[in-house]
Amino acid sequence: MYNIVSYYEAETVGEATALLAENPNLRLIAGGTDVLIKMHNGQIAEAELLSLRKIKSLGTIRKAKDGTIVIGAMATFTQVFNDPILREMIPILTEAAISMGGPQIRNIATIGGNVCNGATSADSAASLFALNAQLKLEDLKGERVVPIREFYLGPGKVALKSGEILTEILISPDNYQGFGGQYLKFAMREAMDIATLAVAVVCKLQGQTFAEVRIGLGVAGPIPLRCLEAEAYAQGKEVSVATVVEIGKLALNSAQARTSWRASQEYREHLVQELVPRALKTAIVNAGGVELV
Ligand SMILES: Cc1cc2nc3c(=O)[nH]c(=O)nc-3n(C[C@H](O)[C@H](O)[C@H](O)COP(=O)(O)OP(=O)(O)OC[C@H]3O[C@@H](n4cnc5c(N)ncnc54)[C@H](O)[C@@H]3O)c2cc1C
Repeated sequence: MYNIVSYYEAETVGEATALLAENPNLRLIAGGTDVLIKMHNGQIAEAELLSLRKIKSLGTIRKAKDGTIVIGAMATFTQVFNDPILREMIPILTEAAISMGGPQIRNIATIGGNVCNGATSADSAASLFALNAQLKLEDLKGERVVPIREFYLGPGKVALKSGEILTEILISPDNYQGFGGQYLKFAMREAMDIATLAVAVVCKLQGQTFAEVRIGLGVAGPIPLRCLEAEAYAQGKEVSVATVVEIGKLALNSAQARTSWRASQEYREHLVQELVPRALKTAIVNAGGVELV
């Protein structure tokens, strides 16, 4: 059932990257809420596991001197939800965090595992896409920083190279200061469920016009995505119901929704057109704008 051939625990990132360099077959385990399910289902056989749980430096959330928000990859969803910096600066991520799983899962599941699992339904994804998050990846030789939009390569596939660990998620101040946002998760039931569609919107206003709008979608395609055509249209447009409705229509041009057992393609497309304007209307109010009715 759980065929664990060997199990290692690292206490520092250096120790972990050294172990990975020595043995490329090692599979990283953070909270284990995806890895262990896959092992249980037989999708992973004979695993050699390397746990990151004892690396304290990966579990912190802080604001750097330049205003960049730094989220350690091992921060759990409970931590993300409760963190005062995230609540104040980027509430669309804390909204996503509380919509994820149930309390037991949120207590153990990490944001890094959520990203590295490569699922389009990952609850952190739409918000991190809308926030233009950058991912810090480290191996024995050094580190590199990759925009989250370049990290997701396909269902379950991410741009981690052999020997690399995701250590931090970075959100620079130009990507959150002065923005209002909203995260909406549509699921088939109110209780714990995976998203049928996830929408994260942030916007910045200049008087009565949109200075910038960014829209992240989850489960609208094989990987999370941004609605670049709708975003470009929004820039400089008047904040009005007509603009918001048009943004919803244009968002659909970026979606690549498919039929699954959860919902048909047509239903997901309907959700995009319905939920993008709904999230944007709240984001406008959160950015200091007027309520559109
Ligand atoms: C009952 C249940 C309900 C769930 N509900 C939801 C939900 O509502 N929304 C949702 O989005 N997900 C949900 N999930 C899925 C899962 O909990 C999340 O994807 C979770 O965030 C995974 O994090 P983890 O720490 O458990 O990752 P793990 O299972 O430990 O790892 C996941 C993957 O990421 C890799 N990995 C982990 N950390 C790193 C790192 N720092 N660097 C490089 N690679 C790394 C691992 O090797 C593995 O491939 C649910 C799971 C369960 C069992």
